[in-house]
Amino acid sequence: MLVRNRILSLQLASLINPSSSLLPFPKPTLSFPTRYLSHWTLRNPTHRHVSASASKTSQTRQISDAARFVRTVLFVPPGVDPDELTEDMVLPGSNIVIGPYAGESRIKEVEFVKSSGKAKECPKDHRPEFAILGRSNVGKSSLINALVRKKEVALTSKKPGKTQLINHFLVNKSWYIVDLPGYGFAKAPDAARMDWSSFTKGYFLNRDTLVAVLLLVDASVPPQKIDLDCANWLGRNNIPITLVFTKCDKMKASKGKRPDENIRDFQQVIRQNYKVHPPWIMTSSVTGLGRDDLLLHMSQLRNYWDQ
Ligand code: GDP
Repeated sequence: MLVRNRILSLQLASLINPSSSLLPFPKPTLSFPTRYLSHWTLRNPTHRHVSASASKTSQTRQISDAARFVRTVLFVPPGVDPDELTEDMVLPGSNIVIGPYAGESRIKEVEFVKSSGKAKECPKDHRPEFAILGRSNVGKSSLINALVRKKEVALTSKKPGKTQLINHFLVNKSWYIVDLPGYGFAKAPDAARMDWSSFTKGYFLNRDTLVAVLLLVDASVPPQKIDLDCANWLGRNNIPITLVFTKCDKMKASKGKRPDENIRDFQQVIRQNYKVHPPWIMTSSVTGLGRDDLLLHMSQLRNYWDQ
């Protein structure tokens, strides 16, 4: 079955229905005037090609709404022709299409390498890396533990003195998971938040080996301005992101929205700023939801980066 059939149903379809998303807070005012493209559109040639062909066909008004939807909402990786998409190429609970660059994704070994105070001190062996970022308490340590199936990794990052550092973990002797300090401590003074920004900004803006930032967003709560600001800052600076929604197992028994509703609300805002929606995936460290699929997604980004 073609993807366009699938995308007209379920949660993806709700993204195009404006009435289905009432934001729980005022729309953030953003200081940049134009919508930016997702990182893969900006950074890789295949996606530049996809964008170019999309704009050409829309000019001739031959593109259907469904096809346009595929091009703007699904994450179509390098090597995949958007016109040839099939349902089984889309990872469940995500907008991620799996293409020919996806490969071996199992984590066989992981070792802590070092903690760094600034980007300049980070490992210089040019291996690809994924940075894990998110608000304090979003489930960062739990997700890292789930990905590598070891408790020691996240514990290392939580040791006193290491929480405010860039922690590099070498996976399968070939790529890094990088644990960054959490942001948005509820009780931290503004000054502490600013410190986080300048410190972490240096890493993002200077790290050539950064394949993507996994930006963790708690799906059990409504969209938070600080997460949206973070996603928008990364987008403005052309830093690749994958939105990893955590705690998707947490179904509210009484008041409050369900995780899928919170995710939809978050994406509604994101879509106002990203011309091509970044990849996103639903996860739960409790049930293991999304873990293997996230690793598969990372493998295709990594293998393409390695080319
Ligand atoms: P960190 O501060 O971002 O490293 O967050 P932690 O990994 O320490 O998690 C914060 C709290 O959220 C802990 O009580 C975890 O047990 C809980 N938590 C983390 N991930 C999940 C999840 O996927 N589902 C549920 N229900 N709870 C989670």
